[in-house]
Amino acid sequence: MGRYTGPVCRLCRREGTNLYLKGARCYGNKCAIVRRDGVPGMHQFRRGKASEYAIRLREKQKVKRFYGIFERQFRKYYAEANRKTGNTGDALMSLLERRLDNVVARLQFAASRPQARQFIRHGHILVNGKKVDIPSYLVKPGDQVSVKNREHSRNLAIENTQADFLPPVPDWLDRISNDPPEGRVSRLPSVQDVGLPVTPQLIVELLSR
Ligand code: SF4
Repeated sequence: MGRYTGPVCRLCRREGTNLYLKGARCYGNKCAIVRRDGVPGMHQFRRGKASEYAIRLREKQKVKRFYGIFERQFRKYYAEANRKTGNTGDALMSLLERRLDNVVARLQFAASRPQARQFIRHGHILVNGKKVDIPSYLVKPGDQVSVKNREHSRNLAIENTQADFLPPVPDWLDRISNDPPEGRVSRLPSVQDVGLPVTPQLIVELLSR
């Protein structure tokens, strides 16, 4: 799967919210959302009132950019959520939240989702003691997530767990130890565990047309 390699602050400004794509910078005064107002581009002030379609489209784009995924993969998540019983929007957010790159970032082993993704791709992350180098791997309750016992990766993860700017580890995950960095999935995440202002129902309305 590909990944976006352009300027990431632009994405936050486009969505009008912090997507936390840069680590420490996202939590200080240097964040582009704090320093610059409005959407990127020359014609930002000419935009009129957003249509119903545009509102729904922006919700979808916001979620995709937050989790760092493209349209095709997002549609697969939607199709899977649609097959489940219960609310499709909630199931969709739960699936996205269970991605391994998200879990590594939520456990504070990485300062951002893109950094977590790189950690995983480079083979530094173990799930139940086995190397998993697929950022989209879906964790399940009881899974143990740890950092490979290699000095460089372990030190980087320990440094991140000691950073005071990162949001606290959510309820559905337990950080068992900081050294060696190790965590556990205690339950499935719900829509309330998603740290992003989003209305999943709007995404479902857009995709179910
Ligand atoms: Fe988004 Fe982080 Fe850039 Fe702020 S610093 S605009 S949160 S990527």
